[in-house]
Amino acid sequence: MKNVSILGSTGSIGANTLAVIRHHRDKFRVSGLSAGHNMALLREQIAEFCPAVVSVATAERAAELGQLLDFTTDVDIVYGQEGAIHAATLPETHLVVSAMVGALGLLPTIRAIESGKNIALANKEILVMAGSLVTKLCREKKVRLFPIDSEHSAIYQCLKGNRKKDVRRIILTASGGPFRTMSWDAMKYMTPEDALKHPRWKMGRKVTIDSATMMNKGLEIIEAKWLFQLDLDKIDVYIHPQSIVHSLVEYRDGSVMAQLGAADMKISIAYALSYPRRINVPADTRLDLTGSGGLEFFPVDHERFPAVSLAYRAGRAGGTLPAVMNGANERAVEAFLDKRICFGGIIPLVGEVMQAHTVLPEPALDDILQADCWARERAETLITERIDHCPLS
Ligand code: MG
Repeated sequence: MKNVSILGSTGSIGANTLAVIRHHRDKFRVSGLSAGHNMALLREQIAEFCPAVVSVATAERAAELGQLLDFTTDVDIVYGQEGAIHAATLPETHLVVSAMVGALGLLPTIRAIESGKNIALANKEILVMAGSLVTKLCREKKVRLFPIDSEHSAIYQCLKGNRKKDVRRIILTASGGPFRTMSWDAMKYMTPEDALKHPRWKMGRKVTIDSATMMNKGLEIIEAKWLFQLDLDKIDVYIHPQSIVHSLVEYRDGSVMAQLGAADMKISIAYALSYPRRINVPADTRLDLTGSGGLEFFPVDHERFPAVSLAYRAGRAGGTLPAVMNGANERAVEAFLDKRICFGGIIPLVGEVMQAHTVLPEPALDDILQADCWARERAETLITERIDHCPLS
């Protein structure tokens, strides 16, 4: 029996994790949950999975949740960052599913690693911001990081049984998002409603917008660098609109290994939960290659999707620059969702904030958190300074 704490339980990854656990109650127990604001869904999760501790965003939410619990339970309700850390470090927890959105998940995940919990990682921003620190801490604490991100789960599986020194390169696939074939002139005025219509994957809002700008792939390049300890020169990206090949590894002898599957996060979640074994997944769809209509692969168009080059630049510079890129991007995506800037403004804004940053090499955690704050403030200043809503196109 493995005890699991889930950070971000009411999000897309959290709900899918619970869907996997629901089918394997003999193998997994939910010890802690941490959620933000969706108290109605959290109430259902408490009723079904009986965690010992749940953490919510604020004291107000905690009071609201207390009101909603109209059944017998001895769940301990906590809140805020300290609450999330408490849920992530319960003595009985073996594995923490880190699936909060963005930088919020960094500290609770670091505390979980410090207390020796293995991590199933969906929150890619953690490795983007603090990959050097986090992977070093994992080595010190003998903690394992299991990727949930579908591309990284694919690579993890393709690397199994092979020697790392035989790897020539890894290739992350990207769907290309909803604007894959659109001209830049048309793309830059797309609305949040347009950008939230992802052609393949059903995901949270932040990652869906990141897919549309391809910053998601940018973040994943840096995530891969740390997860697999690879030089960025060995990490490539292919556009693969069908999202069937989740990623590939090319070896020195020319062999290319790929992992294929339906576009269903439950597959990589189940592997992260049950590694090294495989368990049944309640997948709605099984992959039928005969009905797939073919698999296509294209290079990235860096003119229309500059986020990928920005991420290579940030990843190569290292230090505080990836955290700055991530912080500025989070702020820019929020501003786009609030209709304060246009779609075409998101990535140029991130580039502008990166340009203004003086990189600090080998930062400590405080330096990273400071760089993150600085980037958000800088992005906010640039957003408010502009009169035109689409000034950066
Ligand atoms: Mg992914």
